[in-house]
Amino acid sequence: MAVGVLALQGSFNEHMAALRRIGVKGVEVRRPEQLESIDSLIIPGGESTTMAKLANYHNLFPALREFVNSGKPVWGTCAGLIFLADKAVGVKAGGQELVGGLNCTVHRNYFGSQLQSFETELSVPKLAEKEGGPDVCRAVFIRAPAILEVGADVEVLADYPVSSDNLPSMATRGEDKEDNIGPLDKVIVAVRQGNLLGTAFHPELTADTRWHSLFLRMGEEIGERRLQCITTNSDDHPKGKGTPDLPIFE
Ligand code: GLN
Repeated sequence: MAVGVLALQGSFNEHMAALRRIGVKGVEVRRPEQLESIDSLIIPGGESTTMAKLANYHNLFPALREFVNSGKPVWGTCAGLIFLADKAVGVKAGGQELVGGLNCTVHRNYFGSQLQSFETELSVPKLAEKEGGPDVCRAVFIRAPAILEVGADVEVLADYPVSSDNLPSMATRGEDKEDNIGPLDKVIVAVRQGNLLGTAFHPELTADTRWHSLFLRMGEEIGERRLQCITTNSDDHPKGKGTPDLPIFE
């Protein structure tokens, strides 16, 4: 299984190292054609507008959208999560180009500026259920986004309680009145929707490799389901009755 890591900007080296820790060699991806030879893709954290400019420069957006739609696993961390969201608020004037596919609204700098970055013990029972280990994980939020709303097809894997006391001002968060965000008592910080995984924090910066192994497992699950599909379909055409699956020259 070739795991690609989008290597335009941001924490791609750290993802490559986290993959190495679980015995997987990642492939740095910088050009559209490289997406054809990988089975899954990690879009790292960094700075989403800068990453979008670089992605545009390398003409990567169409190929990234195609990859997302192909059903192969894609994981966006932090800026990568912003990339995957269908809608982003708190963005620079004039908007920002997104890959999309993940049915949610993301707030680009929900937790404020670089100075308001923080670490926390996040409650992650669903991750522990799949990957074992404790019900919490160390989560590093760096000028982090948050998910404000998700569609019915999106599974919430972790949320984080917020109140007006622990949030910086609207201006620091780059929010404007038109963004129209009401007071929330929690925000979503990790989700899964089919082949897509999104985390607002940076698992690649901690020693806990469970998010990376969860992502690899998604690839295996999706691969197995595809295989089952092929087998079921070929069962519909048993040899000798339906269309043979190999050309027969008589
Ligand atoms: N909020 C940042 C952005 O707009 C993302 C920060 C990160 O990836 N650590 O891109």
